[in-house]
Order: sequence, then structure tokens, then C-alpha cells
Amino acid sequence: MGELKCIGCGAALQSNDQNQPGYIPESGLMKEDAICKRCYRLKHYNEVMDVDVASGDFLTMLNSLYETTGVIVKVIDVFDFNGSLVPSFNRIVGDKKVIAVINKLDLLPKSTNRKRLIHRAKHMLKEAGITAVETVAVSALKNDGVDELVEVISKYSSNQDVYVVGTTNVGKSTLINQLIKRSTGDDNVITTSRFPGTTLDLIDIPLDESHFIYDTPGIVVPSQMAHYVKPKDLKYITPAKEIKPKTFQLNPEQTLFIGNLARVDFTGGRRTSFSIYGCQHLTIHRTKLERADEFYEKHYNTLLGPPELDESLLLKNGKDITFQMNEDSDILISGLAFVAVQSGAEVTVKVPDGVEVSVRPTIF
Ligand code: GDP
Repeated sequence: MGELKCIGCGAALQSNDQNQPGYIPESGLMKEDAICKRCYRLKHYNEVMDVDVASGDFLTMLNSLYETTGVIVKVIDVFDFNGSLVPSFNRIVGDKKVIAVINKLDLLPKSTNRKRLIHRAKHMLKEAGITAVETVAVSALKNDGVDELVEVISKYSSNQDVYVVGTTNVGKSTLINQLIKRSTGDDNVITTSRFPGTTLDLIDIPLDESHFIYDTPGIVVPSQMAHYVKPKDLKYITPAKEIKPKTFQLNPEQTLFIGNLARVDFTGGRRTSFSIYGCQHLTIHRTKLERADEFYEKHYNTLLGPPELDESLLLKNGKDITFQMNEDSDILISGLAFVAVQSGAEVTVKVPDGVEVSVRPTIF
């Protein structure tokens, strides 16, 4: 019998040394279409290394992508729009076509108007300097909208490779796993390659006989709320299922705390409603504006937590941003919450210094 090869990377399969190419536990060798442990892990966990925007690797990645031809699929977390934006994105893209994918649609209430969401997303992308040929909303997790995305990808990718780009946690791997399932009908075919001259991993998934979908490394950006929260506590701020808004009627000079990570001060206007769309585990607490600092200092790790903070973050390292609502609007606190506020209100939002806050006409 000839030497068995991994159907993923082509390495000769062996069960002797875990650290050498082609390793597979002995039991796996018996199987048809055997795949080595590394390819198995890549396939199931998409373990492509993430890179920090401050690192040399990031610049290398930018340059390598710039030099390729292909179509870019830019994945955006619907719940963390600003944290999804890749710095220097246009330098990556060059003149390649961009398909924008708004992911994690399942987190928004079912009643959300998808068309309106896409319309707003396009506008926000444009403001960020990103021009997409098409914008598609999906839930990679629930496999919703992925068929439409596949059609759009085929429409624009004729005879070209496809590169999936995004910051960490936007759902690239989840989406790619869905695409793997469909692309060839044979979800075993997956190989790894590298940008020429670098150590950055790519995963290529055959699109057809001669073209591939590449999973690029995720990009870590400091504006993501996740930087302020201990990994064990991410579950308290990251919604895992459809968000149910919590609505409060506020008088001016009242404050809402969104956990211990943000604070919304209602500074001017008539009594009005504030709806918070965020993770169900976040404590929303109402208090008087004049008492808010004192309250936070006393309760940031008790009444307002978890997550657990090392210091009174908003007081020690917070910034204020003030908005005057000229129409019904959503305040986007990147990675933490949307706050739907009615026209006429003046609102000041306090967040950790690096976190992005923006406003758009409401989608709710
Ligand atoms: P990557 O870092 O961009 O590759 O992101 P992952 O695919 O690893 O996903 C990051 C987190 O977001 C994981 O906890 C996923 O389960 C979750 N996630 C990915 N796609 C979706 C989605 O469509 N809906 C929801 N609710 N969660 C998602």
C-alpha cells in the first residue's frame, strides 16, 4: 500500500510525532479521506493567527493583500460597527471590489427592518471612506442570508480569488465555515498557504477549480470594548441571542448606567424614552445626574458589575461625548449597546477613553 497523504495539505500522514507535518492519531489513519490534525484544527476552528494593528505583521499583511488581485469580503459585526472597521482599509483593498457583510443579524430584534439597516450601514461605511459594490446582512451563526451572500460573491468574483477581511470577533471564521459547507459540497477540502515571504497564515477554500476563498488573519483594534474587559467577563457584555431592549422614561438631569462601562446623561430636553439594546446580563441602572459620579465610585464593582474592573474606569479614564438629537436616533456605543433616543434630547455619553461612540438615524 502506498504512503497515505492528508487530503488537506498533502503531507504524508504519520502517527509518530505530533510536532511534525501530517500527524494524525493512529485511530484516524484507518478512516477514508484522512486529514492531519493541523488541517483538522484549521478546518474546525480556523486557527488563523490574529494580528495587532500596531505590529509589523499588520503592515506586511496590508502590503501582501494590496498586491493580490481578487474580491474583498469585509465582515462587520452589526453590534460593533466601529470596532469592525479595519484601519487603513483602503490601503488593503487598492482598487479591488468590496462586498460588505453585516453579520450577527440574529442579535437584533426580529422586527428590525433589514432594508433600513442595510441603508444605514451603507451610509456609515461611506462615512468611513469604504465603498462597497454590495452590502448584505447575514447571520453566519444561524445561516441566515448566507445564500444571498454566496450569489453576490459569485457575481463579483468571476475568475478571481476572494479574501475575507475583518477585525477579530466579527464572525469571519463562523462565516467561512458556512461557506466551506457550500463551496464544493465537500467540506474536507481545505489547504493552508502563506502570504509570499511572510509567516502569516491564510486558509484557502476552493471556490471552483482554480479559485479560492482566503481567510485572512483577524485584526485586533484598540477601539473594541473587549480591551477593557477581562476575557472571563466578555460573556457579560457580548449578546449571545436576540436582544430585548430595556426602555426607561427619563426626566432631564437623570443618568442611565450601562453596566460599569458606559453612562448616558440626559442633559436637556423634555421627558422622553431611552431604549437600551445590549447584552441581557448588563445591569442598567437609573440615577440622578448630580449623584452619578459618587454612585459610580461606590458601586462600579458591586451594583453595576460584572464585568469586574480594576479601577473606576469611567472616572479615571473616561471621555464625554455630547449629542443633540435632531431626529429619532440610535447612539452606538461600540461593542456594548445601542441607545435609541427620541428627537429633541441632548445627551452626554461617557465611555472608556478608546471606545467609539457614534449616532445614526434610528433603525428601530
Ligand atoms: P472571527 O474572530 O472574526 O473569526 O470571529 P468568530 O467566527 O470566531 O466569532 C466570534 C464570536 O462571534 C463567536 O463567539 C461566534 O459564535 C460569534 N458569532 C459569529 N457569527 C455570529 C452570528 O451571526 N451571530 C451571533 N449571535 N454570533 C456570532
